Amino acid sequence: MPVHPLTKRVWYSDPVAAGDRPVLGIAAGERASLLIDGGNSPAHVWELLSAAKALPIPPLSSIALTHWHWDHCFGAVSAALPVLACQATERKLRWMRSLAWTDAAMEARVAEGTEMEFCRANIAIEWPGDDRKIEVPTAGRVYADSLTLDLGGLTARLLPVACDHAPDCHVVQLVEDRVVFLGDCLYLNMDRQPWYRTTISTRRLLEGLLALDADWYIPAHHGLYDREAFRRYAEGMIRLSYAAEGAEDLPGAERLYAAMTGREASDDDREVLGEYLAARQYGKR
Ligand SMILES: [Zn+2]
Repeated sequence: MPVHPLTKRVWYSDPVAAGDRPVLGIAAGERASLLIDGGNSPAHVWELLSAAKALPIPPLSSIALTHWHWDHCFGAVSAALPVLACQATERKLRWMRSLAWTDAAMEARVAEGTEMEFCRANIAIEWPGDDRKIEVPTAGRVYADSLTLDLGGLTARLLPVACDHAPDCHVVQLVEDRVVFLGDCLYLNMDRQPWYRTTISTRRLLEGLLALDADWYIPAHHGLYDREAFRRYAEGMIRLSYAAEGAEDLPGAERLYAAMTGREASDDDREVLGEYLAARQYGKR
Protein backbone atom coordinates (compact mmCIF):
# COMPACT_ATOMS: atom_id res chain seq x y z
CA MET A 1 0.00 0.00 0.00
CA PRO A 2 1.65 3.24 -1.08
CA VAL A 3 -0.22 5.35 1.50
CA HIS A 4 -0.91 4.71 5.17
CA PRO A 5 -3.87 6.12 7.08
CA LEU A 6 -2.82 8.11 10.14
CA THR A 7 -6.07 9.73 11.21
CA LYS A 8 -9.53 9.63 9.63
CA ARG A 9 -8.51 12.42 7.25
CA VAL A 10 -4.73 12.22 6.89
CA TRP A 11 -2.60 9.74 4.92
CA TYR A 12 1.15 9.56 4.32
CA SER A 13 3.58 7.63 2.12
CA ASP A 14 6.91 6.12 3.12
CA PRO A 15 10.22 7.85 2.42
CA VAL A 16 12.50 5.96 0.01
CA ALA A 17 16.27 6.22 0.39
CA ALA A 18 17.12 5.41 -3.26
CA GLY A 19 16.54 8.65 -5.17
CA ASP A 20 15.83 10.39 -1.84
CA ARG A 21 12.04 10.27 -2.23
CA PRO A 22 10.38 12.22 0.60
CA VAL A 23 7.15 11.38 2.40
CA LEU A 24 4.09 12.78 0.64
CA GLY A 25 0.90 13.52 2.54
CA ILE A 26 -2.80 13.74 1.82
CA ALA A 27 -5.19 15.74 4.00
CA ALA A 28 -8.88 15.52 3.16
CA GLY A 29 -11.62 17.83 4.35
CA GLU A 30 -15.29 17.62 3.40
CA ARG A 31 -14.81 19.91 0.40
CA ALA A 32 -11.23 19.56 -0.76
CA SER A 33 -8.10 17.48 -0.37
CA LEU A 34 -4.56 18.78 -0.15
CA LEU A 35 -1.40 17.07 -1.35
CA ILE A 36 1.61 17.81 0.82
CA ASP A 37 4.72 18.14 -1.34
CA GLY A 38 4.97 17.41 -5.04
CA GLY A 39 7.34 14.43 -5.13
CA ASN A 40 10.73 14.07 -6.78
CA SER A 41 9.42 12.80 -10.14
CA PRO A 42 6.18 12.01 -11.99
CA ALA A 43 6.61 8.34 -11.05
CA HIS A 44 6.81 9.25 -7.38
CA VAL A 45 3.75 11.50 -7.30
CA TRP A 46 1.68 9.21 -9.56
CA GLU A 47 2.02 6.39 -7.06
CA LEU A 48 0.31 8.60 -4.53
CA LEU A 49 -2.28 9.98 -6.94
CA SER A 50 -3.39 6.50 -7.96
CA ALA A 51 -3.63 5.45 -4.31
CA ALA A 52 -5.65 8.62 -3.59
CA LYS A 53 -8.25 7.57 -6.19
CA ALA A 54 -9.16 4.61 -3.99
CA LEU A 55 -9.68 6.78 -0.90
CA PRO A 56 -13.13 8.11 0.06
CA ILE A 57 -12.08 11.75 -0.22
CA PRO A 58 -12.87 14.84 -2.32
CA PRO A 59 -10.55 15.34 -5.30
CA LEU A 60 -7.11 16.76 -4.59
CA SER A 61 -7.30 20.50 -5.19
CA SER A 62 -3.74 21.77 -4.63
CA ILE A 63 -0.18 20.95 -3.62
CA ALA A 64 1.50 22.61 -0.63
CA LEU A 65 5.28 22.76 -1.01
CA THR A 66 7.26 22.58 2.23
CA HIS A 67 10.33 24.10 0.50
CA TRP A 68 12.00 24.45 -2.88
CA HIS A 69 14.36 21.44 -2.95
CA TRP A 70 14.09 19.26 -6.07
CA ASP A 71 12.86 16.13 -4.30
CA HIS A 72 9.78 17.99 -3.06
CA CYS A 73 8.76 19.59 -6.36
CA PHE A 74 9.98 17.76 -9.49
CA GLY A 75 6.81 15.66 -9.63
CA ALA A 76 4.41 18.56 -9.07
CA VAL A 77 3.77 19.57 -12.70
CA SER A 78 2.72 16.03 -13.60
CA ALA A 79 0.05 16.11 -10.88
CA ALA A 80 -1.69 18.94 -12.80
CA LEU A 81 -2.75 20.68 -9.60
CA PRO A 82 -2.16 24.30 -8.51
CA VAL A 83 1.00 24.63 -6.43
CA LEU A 84 1.00 26.72 -3.25
CA ALA A 85 4.36 28.26 -2.39
CA CYS A 86 5.62 31.15 -0.30
CA GLN A 87 7.46 34.01 -2.01
CA ALA A 88 10.89 32.67 -1.03
CA THR A 89 10.08 29.23 -2.45
CA GLU A 90 8.75 30.71 -5.70
CA ARG A 91 11.97 32.73 -6.10
CA LYS A 92 14.00 29.51 -5.86
CA LEU A 93 11.63 27.69 -8.25
CA ARG A 94 12.12 30.53 -10.75
CA TRP A 95 15.89 30.08 -10.48
CA MET A 96 15.57 26.31 -10.95
CA ARG A 97 13.40 26.83 -14.04
CA SER A 98 16.38 28.59 -15.63
CA LEU A 99 18.73 25.62 -15.10
CA ALA A 100 19.67 22.69 -17.34
CA TRP A 101 19.54 19.17 -15.88
CA THR A 102 21.97 17.21 -18.07
CA ASP A 103 24.76 15.31 -16.33
CA ALA A 104 27.27 17.92 -17.53
CA ALA A 105 25.17 20.86 -16.34
CA MET A 106 24.65 19.32 -12.90
CA GLU A 107 28.34 18.39 -12.58
CA ALA A 108 29.32 21.94 -13.47
CA ARG A 109 27.01 23.33 -10.78
CA VAL A 110 28.45 20.93 -8.20
CA ALA A 111 31.98 22.10 -9.19
CA GLU A 112 31.03 25.77 -8.82
CA GLY A 113 29.23 25.11 -5.52
CA THR A 114 25.64 25.90 -6.58
CA GLU A 115 24.40 22.29 -6.51
CA MET A 116 24.78 19.72 -3.76
CA GLU A 117 26.58 16.53 -4.79
CA PHE A 118 24.04 14.58 -2.73
CA CYS A 119 21.22 16.01 -4.88
CA ARG A 120 23.08 15.45 -8.18
CA ALA A 121 23.60 11.79 -7.26
CA ASN A 122 19.95 11.25 -6.30
CA ILE A 123 18.58 13.10 -9.35
CA ALA A 124 20.69 10.73 -11.46
CA ILE A 125 19.02 7.76 -9.68
CA GLU A 126 15.44 9.06 -9.95
CA TRP A 127 15.92 10.49 -13.44
CA PRO A 128 18.31 8.10 -15.23
CA GLY A 129 19.52 9.05 -18.70
CA ASP A 130 20.95 12.40 -19.71
CA ASP A 131 17.85 13.70 -21.54
CA ARG A 132 15.82 14.58 -18.45
CA LYS A 133 12.45 16.23 -19.12
CA ILE A 134 12.32 17.90 -15.74
CA GLU A 135 9.58 20.48 -15.34
CA VAL A 136 10.04 22.77 -12.35
CA PRO A 137 6.62 24.04 -11.24
CA THR A 138 5.42 27.63 -11.20
CA ALA A 139 3.38 28.39 -8.10
CA GLY A 140 -0.28 28.97 -8.91
CA ARG A 141 -0.73 30.76 -5.61
CA VAL A 142 2.13 32.63 -3.95
CA TYR A 143 1.67 33.65 -0.34
CA ALA A 144 3.81 36.00 1.69
CA ASP A 145 4.60 34.09 4.82
CA SER A 146 1.93 31.70 6.08
CA LEU A 147 -1.32 30.42 4.64
CA THR A 148 -4.43 28.88 6.19
CA LEU A 149 -6.70 26.67 4.11
CA ASP A 150 -10.19 25.54 5.07
CA LEU A 151 -10.58 22.11 3.48
CA GLY A 152 -14.06 21.75 4.99
CA GLY A 153 -13.98 20.82 8.66
CA LEU A 154 -10.22 20.41 8.46
CA THR A 155 -7.82 23.35 8.63
CA ALA A 156 -4.40 23.21 6.98
CA ARG A 157 -1.90 25.80 8.20
CA LEU A 158 1.26 26.31 6.17
CA LEU A 159 3.63 27.76 8.74
CA PRO A 160 7.14 29.11 8.17
CA VAL A 161 9.83 27.67 10.44
CA ALA A 162 13.32 29.10 10.88
CA CYS A 163 15.80 26.23 10.58
CA ASP A 164 19.21 25.37 9.19
CA HIS A 165 18.02 23.26 6.25
CA ALA A 166 16.66 25.95 3.90
CA PRO A 167 15.46 29.53 4.40
CA ASP A 168 11.98 28.86 2.97
CA CYS A 169 11.04 25.81 5.08
CA HIS A 170 7.40 25.43 6.06
CA VAL A 171 5.52 22.82 8.02
CA VAL A 172 1.93 21.82 7.27
CA GLN A 173 -0.26 21.50 10.34
CA LEU A 174 -3.61 19.71 10.05
CA VAL A 175 -5.11 21.43 13.02
CA GLU A 176 -8.16 19.37 13.98
CA ASP A 177 -6.41 16.06 13.28
CA ARG A 178 -3.33 17.13 15.28
CA VAL A 179 -0.80 16.16 12.61
CA VAL A 180 2.25 18.14 11.47
CA PHE A 181 4.11 17.36 8.25
CA LEU A 182 7.61 18.64 8.95
CA GLY A 183 9.12 18.66 5.46
CA ASP A 184 12.90 18.82 5.88
CA CYS A 185 13.09 21.33 8.73
CA LEU A 186 14.80 18.87 11.11
CA TYR A 187 17.69 18.30 8.73
CA LEU A 188 21.11 19.82 8.30
CA ASN A 189 22.21 22.67 6.14
CA MET A 190 23.67 20.85 3.13
CA ASP A 191 24.73 23.81 0.99
CA ARG A 192 28.42 23.12 1.57
CA GLN A 193 30.62 20.38 3.02
CA PRO A 194 30.67 19.70 5.90
CA TRP A 195 26.93 19.75 6.51
CA TYR A 196 25.99 21.43 9.77
CA ARG A 197 23.30 22.54 12.19
CA THR A 198 23.32 25.45 14.63
CA THR A 199 22.47 25.22 18.31
CA ILE A 200 20.24 28.24 18.91
CA SER A 201 18.26 27.76 15.71
CA THR A 202 17.74 24.05 16.49
CA ARG A 203 16.46 24.80 19.98
CA ARG A 204 14.06 27.49 18.73
CA LEU A 205 12.81 25.20 15.99
CA LEU A 206 12.18 22.23 18.27
CA GLU A 207 10.60 24.31 21.02
CA GLY A 208 8.31 25.91 18.42
CA LEU A 209 7.31 22.54 17.01
CA LEU A 210 6.62 21.13 20.47
CA ALA A 211 4.39 24.13 21.16
CA LEU A 212 2.11 23.10 18.30
CA ASP A 213 -0.93 21.20 19.48
CA ALA A 214 -0.08 17.93 17.72
CA ASP A 215 -0.10 14.19 18.31
CA TRP A 216 1.95 13.26 15.23
CA TYR A 217 5.06 14.72 13.61
CA ILE A 218 6.03 13.44 10.17
CA PRO A 219 9.53 14.23 8.84
CA ALA A 220 10.04 13.88 5.09
CA HIS A 221 12.97 11.47 5.05
CA HIS A 222 12.62 9.22 8.11
CA GLY A 223 9.92 7.60 10.18
CA LEU A 224 7.17 9.51 11.95
CA TYR A 225 7.01 10.37 15.67
CA ASP A 226 4.10 10.32 18.06
CA ARG A 227 4.10 13.25 20.46
CA GLU A 228 6.04 11.45 23.18
CA ALA A 229 8.71 10.16 20.78
CA PHE A 230 9.06 13.63 19.27
CA ARG A 231 9.45 15.15 22.74
CA ARG A 232 12.25 12.64 23.51
CA TYR A 233 13.94 13.36 20.17
CA ALA A 234 13.72 17.13 20.74
CA GLU A 235 15.02 16.92 24.31
CA GLY A 236 17.95 14.78 23.14
CA MET A 237 18.84 17.25 20.39
CA ILE A 238 18.56 20.16 22.82
CA ARG A 239 20.84 18.45 25.39
CA LEU A 240 23.40 17.79 22.67
CA SER A 241 23.20 21.43 21.56
CA TYR A 242 24.19 22.61 25.04
CA ALA A 243 27.06 20.10 25.21
CA ALA A 244 28.37 21.32 21.83
CA GLU A 245 27.96 24.96 22.82
CA GLY A 246 29.98 24.60 26.00
CA ALA A 247 32.96 22.83 24.45
CA GLU A 248 35.94 23.70 22.28
CA ASP A 249 35.99 20.49 20.26
CA LEU A 250 34.39 17.06 19.88
CA PRO A 251 36.23 15.33 22.76
CA GLY A 252 35.32 18.29 25.00
CA ALA A 253 31.67 18.11 23.88
CA GLU A 254 31.59 14.37 24.62
CA ARG A 255 33.03 14.96 28.11
CA LEU A 256 30.49 17.70 28.79
CA TYR A 257 27.67 15.51 27.52
CA ALA A 258 28.75 12.67 29.81
CA ALA A 259 28.93 15.07 32.77
CA MET A 260 25.46 16.48 31.94
CA THR A 261 23.72 13.16 31.44
CA GLY A 262 25.75 10.63 33.44
CA ARG A 263 26.28 8.46 30.37
CA GLU A 264 28.68 8.25 27.45
CA ALA A 265 27.67 9.76 24.12
CA SER A 266 26.50 7.09 21.67
CA ASP A 267 27.69 7.01 18.04
CA ASP A 268 24.51 8.88 17.05
CA ASP A 269 25.08 11.46 19.79
CA ARG A 270 28.66 11.94 18.62
CA GLU A 271 27.47 12.49 15.06
CA VAL A 272 25.05 15.22 16.17
CA LEU A 273 27.72 16.88 18.32
CA GLY A 274 29.94 16.94 15.23
CA GLU A 275 27.13 18.51 13.19
CA TYR A 276 26.74 21.32 15.73
CA LEU A 277 30.50 21.88 15.92
CA ALA A 278 30.79 21.95 12.11
CA ALA A 279 28.75 25.20 12.09
CA ARG A 280 31.80 26.98 13.54
CA GLN A 281 33.65 26.51 10.26
CA TYR A 282 31.17 28.99 8.82
CA GLY A 283 31.36 31.38 11.77
CA LYS A 284 28.00 30.10 13.07
CA ARG A 285 26.94 28.53 16.33
ZN1 LIG B 1 15.28 19.69 1.55
